[in-house]
Amino acid sequence: MTKLFPTSTAGSLPKPTWLAQPEVLWSPWKLEGQELIDGKHDALRVALQEQLVAGTDIVSDGEQTRQHFVTTFIEHLNGVDFENRQTVKIRDRYDASVPSVVGPVSRQKPVFVDDAKFLRSQTDKPIKWALPGPMTMVDTLYDGHYNSRKDLALEFAKILNQEAKELEAAGVDIIQFDEPAFNVFFDEVNEWGIAALETAIEGLKCETAIHICYGYGIKANTDWKKTLGGEWRQYEEAFPKLRESNIDIISLECHNSKVPMELLELVRGKKVMVGAIDVATNDIETPEEVAATLREALKYVDADKLYPCTNCGMAPLSRDVARAKLAALSAGAEILRAEYSA
Ligand SMILES: [Zn+2]
Repeated sequence: MTKLFPTSTAGSLPKPTWLAQPEVLWSPWKLEGQELIDGKHDALRVALQEQLVAGTDIVSDGEQTRQHFVTTFIEHLNGVDFENRQTVKIRDRYDASVPSVVGPVSRQKPVFVDDAKFLRSQTDKPIKWALPGPMTMVDTLYDGHYNSRKDLALEFAKILNQEAKELEAAGVDIIQFDEPAFNVFFDEVNEWGIAALETAIEGLKCETAIHICYGYGIKANTDWKKTLGGEWRQYEEAFPKLRESNIDIISLECHNSKVPMELLELVRGKKVMVGAIDVATNDIETPEEVAATLREALKYVDADKLYPCTNCGMAPLSRDVARAKLAALSAGAEILRAEYSA
């Protein structure tokens, strides 16, 4: 990017009410058959348009074609039984009814490649595409086959690498892996989590990003945050190895969080997508608040490597709130650009 401080979102945006019930995660589709296929495309067009109007520089599909950031990908794999569900504790935090791994996992066919081609046909702007990270996939399933989180993660990483190479060929500029589990399972991150990520990005020529956050603004997550104390130092565990990794960009949560900004020094040299929009509140940030968060991050991130972003996805918010937050992000980045060009 030649433009300083290019803006983007962590990924998801709210869906239109005619496609799925708003302000809910895992919301079922309201359409079916060809109407659903057409409806998803129309929603993608709308999500793109809203980003363009808001001045977002690196655009996405707003995850309009998926119900959930992890399970929609897993639905397209062999070896996972969605009828055979087990209740397991995920992110070491809350019980969820999840599908079971019952045999060797493999990809039946490309999952998001047609959607990415469609988005590419709609805009000349740089495109970012989100995929689930291998560790977060493992942590969203019951494994009755491999009986090893590491082995299953490495199999998922190979599948993600196939998908990523096809997304790259479809014209995606940045492929992002969502790994909220990296803020929970520190030993596993360093033992095999980052290695799995390296397998997922092997041979890619486009840029790659990892998004690590404290989750959507749902109650299980906001309750968990209350237990984390006055300083959230979780990033400290993964950053040293991530700095040595081949990942180009690190996307993280900063605004309204208790993450000490100096932790960013640990990934000096990487590009950083700095979360300057809180997705756990309906309050709209002022441009000056956004600029203040970015200015603080600039003490530890070189200006040409700072990418203003949202803390996490905005799927659970209302469309009005998400739209206003996108505009605030652009306005905040513009304040900083003006300061740098002055
Ligand atoms: Zn997130």
